[in-house]
Amino acid sequence: MSDVTQYHQIKHELITNNVVLVAVSKTKPVSAIQQLYDVGQRDFGENKVQEMQEKAAQLPTDIRWHLIGHLQSNKVKYIAPYVYMVHSIDSLKLLQEVDKRATQHNRTIDCLLQVHIAEEETKFGLDRTELRDLLESAVYQSMAHVCIRGLMGMATFTDDKEQVDREFRGLNSLFQQIKTDYFADDNRFDTLSMGMSGDYRIAVAAGSTMVRIGSLLFGSR
Ligand SMILES: *Cc1c(COP(=O)(O)O)cnc(C)c1O
Repeated sequence: MSDVTQYHQIKHELITNNVVLVAVSKTKPVSAIQQLYDVGQRDFGENKVQEMQEKAAQLPTDIRWHLIGHLQSNKVKYIAPYVYMVHSIDSLKLLQEVDKRATQHNRTIDCLLQVHIAEEETKFGLDRTELRDLLESAVYQSMAHVCIRGLMGMATFTDDKEQVDREFRGLNSLFQQIKTDYFADDNRFDTLSMGMSGDYRIAVAAGSTMVRIGSLLFGSR
């Protein structure tokens, strides 16, 4: 079951701020996704390739599927025919693979570069140096079938709101800087994916343009 009342409230809040809502449906059944689809939601996020595959096959084809979890290069081929946006690009190799598979399907896949902003240790996401290295390399390759739309980040999992605020504002200023340095004449670089159930209001106040919300809409996992 999904919380349709909560959905409408969050949606209203986000529309006022021009923020896109990705409903994170991981571990939840297709019936729960269908419920939100029926009231107008079209962007859904999953963190596992196989789960997304199974759900996409059973649901309307105008859903925009967002892959938000870690993606292995050897699995890109499965989602390339239909995935709308990959939020978790963390290497040049992965970006090249997405480009290659998108080319085979004669489509362009929107991508976000995942940046590591949290203080806590994690193996996922690029640090600032790796981000710039990737962008410099990408500039010299003609990858016609991926479109780098922006950045994605996750704040530290903590009750310290000031720390979360600091991390989101830090990511927004990095986003602005990258836009100036690499995408000055490309207005498609417009997406800053940050904010989840517990911190989306802080993220929106810090300049998020896309939030990924799961448990508030679908209940805890
Ligand atoms: C699960 C997940 C979310 C949503 O988390 P909630 O706390 O349930 O809103 C957002 N982003 C990523 C990358 C996730 O894996």
